[in-house]
Amino acid sequence: MATSTLAERPRLQFCWPPVLWIGALHVLALLAFVPSFFSWSGLAVCLFLHWVTGGIGICLTYHRLLTHRSFALRPRWLEYVLTIIGTTASEGGAIGWVADHRRHHANSDEENDTHSPLRGFLWAHMAWWMFMKGDNEHNPEYYKRWAPDLYKDPVHRFLEKTHLIYPLLLFAALYAVGGMSWLVWGGFVRTVFVLHSTWLVNSASHIWGYRSHVTRDRSTNLWWVALLTYGEGWHNNHHAYQTSARHGLRWWEVDMTYITIGVMKAMGIAYNIKAVRTRMNPVPAMTAPVAGPGSE
Ligand SMILES: [Zn+2]
Ligand SMILES: [Zn+2]
Repeated sequence: MATSTLAERPRLQFCWPPVLWIGALHVLALLAFVPSFFSWSGLAVCLFLHWVTGGIGICLTYHRLLTHRSFALRPRWLEYVLTIIGTTASEGGAIGWVADHRRHHANSDEENDTHSPLRGFLWAHMAWWMFMKGDNEHNPEYYKRWAPDLYKDPVHRFLEKTHLIYPLLLFAALYAVGGMSWLVWGGFVRTVFVLHSTWLVNSASHIWGYRSHVTRDRSTNLWWVALLTYGEGWHNNHHAYQTSARHGLRWWEVDMTYITIGVMKAMGIAYNIKAVRTRMNPVPAMTAPVAGPGSE
């Protein structure tokens, strides 16, 4: 209800499955400290797959395509291929991811936000998916409420159910082709790197940085998060223009994902691209964050 405060939040339930899976990936990433598991080709695969799985899979596909429909793809099956690439980032299936993120936009920095830093940096960064409140449990009701367009698609439902298979297949392929160094660096280290890069958009880009637009949340533009996330760190721009495929609005706000969408347009596979041209609101520019619940 409107008068609820963060102090009156409902009881949280610990979620073991994602904690065990993501926790295991963090432990396995520590194998990077074994010198014999390092190779320069493994490091190159790590950086390349950071872009493929984080940049193409999460930023371009899960976020700008599936969550906000800021552009369209042809042929249709390409959306499913890119969704499978998104699953290899180990951030869960697309339907759950999209539902969580749409809920974030609907309640940004309010009581029902999926991951507001008003509960603390650690909550916004990674604790939010370790706990469920009852109203954000990943079940059909939740999917139908926040991602009905994806939930009614049988292919997307199938990919949601089988999302764990694809990162495991990628790990197996890396080991088969490049041995332990590719598995450790291209698999485990890369996954942890992508996870924290994505989570920084939810945490750091609602705390530090500058604001170009008046929004009802505390979103910010933060250059180093934008570098790590291929443009997603221009997060205040994104909250101001949520359906825009273009997040970097000033000439120096480099937006690799929007550049990639432009290349896809030139290739004839991306169309109906929604891209805001306004660089910032006329007044007032560079605003301070607005007050949110619990700040008074
Ligand atoms: Zn946000
Ligand atoms: Zn968004």
